[in-house]
Amino acid sequence: MCGIVGYIGHREAYPIIIKGLKRLEYRGYDSAGIMLFDGQELKVSKTKGKVTDLEEKSSREMTINGTIGIGHTRWATHGVPNDVNSHPHVSNSGNLVIIHNGIIENYAPLKEELIKRGYVFHSDTDSEVLINLIEDVQKKENLKLGKAVQIALNQVVGAYAICVFDKQKPDEIVVARLGSPLAIGVGEDEYFIASDASPFIEYTSNAIYLEDEEMAVVRLHKPLKIRKIKDDTLVDPYIQELKMNLEQIEKGGYDHFMLKEIYEQPSVIKDTYRGRLHANLGLIQMAGIEDNLEKFLNANRILIVACGTSWHAGLVAEYIFEEFTRIPVEVEYASEFRYRNPVINKGDVVIAISQSGETADTLAAIKLAKERGAFVFGVCNVVGSSISRETHAGAYTHAGPEIGVASTKAFTTQITVLTMIALRLAKAKGTLTNSDFHRYLQELEIIPEKVAEALQTNDKAKEIAEIFKTAPNCLYLGRGYNFPVALEGALKLKEISYIHAEGYPAAEMKHGPIALIDEHMPVIVIAPKQGHYDKVVSNIQEIKSRSGIIIAVVTKGDTQVRELADYVIEIPETSDALSPLLTTIPLQLLSYHIAVMRECNVDQPRNLAKSVTVE
Ligand code: GLU
Repeated sequence: MCGIVGYIGHREAYPIIIKGLKRLEYRGYDSAGIMLFDGQELKVSKTKGKVTDLEEKSSREMTINGTIGIGHTRWATHGVPNDVNSHPHVSNSGNLVIIHNGIIENYAPLKEELIKRGYVFHSDTDSEVLINLIEDVQKKENLKLGKAVQIALNQVVGAYAICVFDKQKPDEIVVARLGSPLAIGVGEDEYFIASDASPFIEYTSNAIYLEDEEMAVVRLHKPLKIRKIKDDTLVDPYIQELKMNLEQIEKGGYDHFMLKEIYEQPSVIKDTYRGRLHANLGLIQMAGIEDNLEKFLNANRILIVACGTSWHAGLVAEYIFEEFTRIPVEVEYASEFRYRNPVINKGDVVIAISQSGETADTLAAIKLAKERGAFVFGVCNVVGSSISRETHAGAYTHAGPEIGVASTKAFTTQITVLTMIALRLAKAKGTLTNSDFHRYLQELEIIPEKVAEALQTNDKAKEIAEIFKTAPNCLYLGRGYNFPVALEGALKLKEISYIHAEGYPAAEMKHGPIALIDEHMPVIVIAPKQGHYDKVVSNIQEIKSRSGIIIAVVTKGDTQVRELADYVIEIPETSDALSPLLTTIPLQLLSYHIAVMRECNVDQPRNLAKSVTVE
């Protein structure tokens, strides 16, 4: 995920682009860059860091003014954040320039082919491969830029929103999208291009949002022509009148980043498995695992270290790993692990999970595990973060920046990565039957659609939130794979609505918390059809007999729990192991709405910080 901005018109492009990038920084902020063209000379300035760093650097480097330009604020997916990997990327001839938001999955074979044809690469990015592919196509057949972009895009697999500029055709910018957003602002003799409308809201309220698989040649003094990338058919441009203000646009029209991030889950889970999961081929390929397969297969045990929500994802992973791979797993709070002189042996594999990749306790736990000879694997969201550098290998979650302090999409994408790892190991060990392996692959591939369906529980969650917004306490219960979800549900409620909540394994309730139950106590029970359904139903009976109020998360069509529960939220059916990806959704929504109704600061809850870089 990243932000892209382009301008072509009669104004100075530089200030428009810099200001636009600042507004898009919520989309990524590990590096930034800008290209300007003044009619003769093309200049690129780029740097690791935030847009203010770019502003500082480019104020020295950018010696030209221009009325055409493009800019990028990056969220690295391929290659660490550094100056060279920053966008824009320039083709080998020096004529073509690209900014790209997304992932080119098949960049490796394309790069190999281009190297054979004499191309030289300076960065580790997939985007530099794309611009040289476009150049190669353009040169081979002496094509116009638009055509070359179209042919090249038909050869790539992945996601993109791109702006491509050709020095030899300086009155146009070619844009295209598949899976990443792209808006075009239409002004008087000028066009603005951006990931959302925030960079151009004060210049024009007329915007065209490209749909997936569409491209356009944005040419000065010419009306816009939009085409389908696949078959070249023309599409009528639909110009929308923007009615939103700046803040609303940055949040994609959502009231809070947390809600936006909750709703991003179907697409970011896809980004997480994109290029790694191939259900049709029965394959899971993750470079960090392939390169270290033996280490995992020979592991005496897997130790998972994490904090907070990541620790909950680790607990889900414990259930999945043991079930799928039969490798013993232990999950540890990083803060406890680092200070308790743990037994760590050479044959241990440690998996460290952290959204930011900067969590101080997790970093310290990694260092300790390395000192004692363990192989350490990181699961982080932020590319190039300290944990990703400190670990021997790892896998990114590719969830895009998470701004809301309460973690949502980080949790589900961590589970997605960990599930893929478990499946890959199970395949190698033969601990899952072939048919189960294929079934899980297929199920994981369609899980984003089911997550989207689970998001339709929003109204129901809001209705329930209205009833329980004043509750002083809440109990969350789940079993098996959904015990960690109960913990995560309770954590979400605590952190953003400041209501005291506890997550418990449903059966443990009898050993204490049942004493809390009376007619004022809301109990959220996670009771999907698979798993230990009958046992959970018995637990619900026990709560009912003590007059507790039951809010149950059930599989669509459930009748048994419906009869017992006071409120029911239905989610789609899936296998037990993948159910946390769905059951967690209504719990996120419930906490969100309760917090909003209690007028809490949802995105920045009191006393908390997004990444905990102190122990
Ligand atoms: N895949 C590209 C990169 O790593 C673009 C990532 C983005 O969307 O920011 O540079």
